[in-house]
Amino acid sequence: MVAARAANYEYSEIATARARYWRKKPEQRREVLMPFFWKTLAPMGVVYGNQDAGSSVTVKNEVRWSSAGYAELMTGRPQPEVVDNTLVRYPQRTFMEYVQAELGLEPQEVAQFGTWDGIKLAAASRDDVFLMNGAFDPIPPHLSNPEMDRLVALRRRVMGLWEEGSNDALTFELALAYLRQHEPRLLWISFGNTDDWAHADRYDRLLECLHGIDSMLADLWSALQSMDGYRDRTTLILTTDHGRGATVEDWAEHDASIPGSEDVWVAVIGPDTPDRGEVSPSLPAHLADVAATALQFFGLDGEDFSEEAGPPIAGTLH
Ligand SMILES: [Zn+2]
Repeated sequence: MVAARAANYEYSEIATARARYWRKKPEQRREVLMPFFWKTLAPMGVVYGNQDAGSSVTVKNEVRWSSAGYAELMTGRPQPEVVDNTLVRYPQRTFMEYVQAELGLEPQEVAQFGTWDGIKLAAASRDDVFLMNGAFDPIPPHLSNPEMDRLVALRRRVMGLWEEGSNDALTFELALAYLRQHEPRLLWISFGNTDDWAHADRYDRLLECLHGIDSMLADLWSALQSMDGYRDRTTLILTTDHGRGATVEDWAEHDASIPGSEDVWVAVIGPDTPDRGEVSPSLPAHLADVAATALQFFGLDGEDFSEEAGPPIAGTLH
């Protein structure tokens, strides 16, 4: 029997997926799935969240949907009023706004690009403080160039799996074009297609998406290392907004009732972070701690940002 059945979908390409990504040991599987991350990035930083190895990172919010996760990530604490994925902008100041204000950065020096509109709404409490680019938004003419305009047009033409999201590869290329043009000090790139394919019960496609994101991380890293302003002075922080169910029956979904939806992970890679790779065991950490963790690298204190924000994750700064 080679076919595996998810909740309601029989994969047609299961043999191909197995050949590409199934290996005997978990360490082999993760490395074949995301080779650049595990072989190149992880050894240059720290990775938290492997519970089997005694490292746990969880969300504090009880919703365990995207908007609640992004609100927690951006403000350093769960926001009780965020109870679903309704596309609204909430009034709490984010750490991205705080960095911009404290460092006196120009509007183009902070930017956000996301495959889903919920990301731009989570990035700041106001829509005019820096560039926030949603699923199909153009780039304002004074910040754009022909390459960005072409990518925006292409992103509108490539149909996503769901109506509300666009394409991760094009979101990424657009962010990269912006990075090259404006050299922002703080850039948030958010992918979404892994979650899309998971909700469609396509574990095989979820794996392909992750593999594709790994190649984008390789492109991002090589772009950063090719630019004087970024080489050896840039920190990457990678994380996710929620976990998912951990069993064959419920892996496709995530919410307050599904165990595993609270489980996330965080990786911090850069010149100011110890070269430890996977840290295990580690002190329990939370998605709410990422804001103060990020602020460290700008020389800023999470407590000055918000007394209610989680602390920096221990071991992320030399
Ligand atoms: Zn989802």
